[in-house]
Amino acid sequence: MSSSPDSCPLCAADGAPALWHNDRLRVIAVDDADYPGYVRVIWRTHVAEMTDLDDEDRLHMMRVVLEVEAVMRDHMQPDKVNLAALGNMVPHLHWHVIPRWRGDRHFPDALWAAPRVAPGAESDTFRERARAAAQRVPEFHRRLRERLSARFLPAL
Ligand SMILES: [Zn+2]
Repeated sequence: MSSSPDSCPLCAADGAPALWHNDRLRVIAVDDADYPGYVRVIWRTHVAEMTDLDDEDRLHMMRVVLEVEAVMRDHMQPDKVNLAALGNMVPHLHWHVIPRWRGDRHFPDALWAAPRVAPGAESDTFRERARAAAQRVPEFHRRLRERLSARFLPAL
């Protein structure tokens, strides 16, 4: 079962500010204090699965996702990047690109699992790492926009 575009929150948010967009997809910053630099890449039309896209569109989606990953690795310097396309709640194709650090809130589980570190129970190392990562976000966003505009055609 899939929701209709009329009731889809991602369709409804299509005009909201994006880090970068073109006619096919949008790249948005996810505001999550535990995961500074977290980005979503959202296909603009209401399709559920990668296999709903034709070959050229699939390739474009993955090229953008991987370019986000590359800039994230360079600049956010996470221990690992998690790529996820779930869409169980919102069946509108989108990829999560999530910077992960050893000992982060959900380590070593997926972000959708129960947290391993309760709010208020963070170590000094945890807080310092999160603070340092958060400071790198504006520059990460700047570099990401620059790289995507250099590699792909932006919206007219
Ligand atoms: Zn939608």
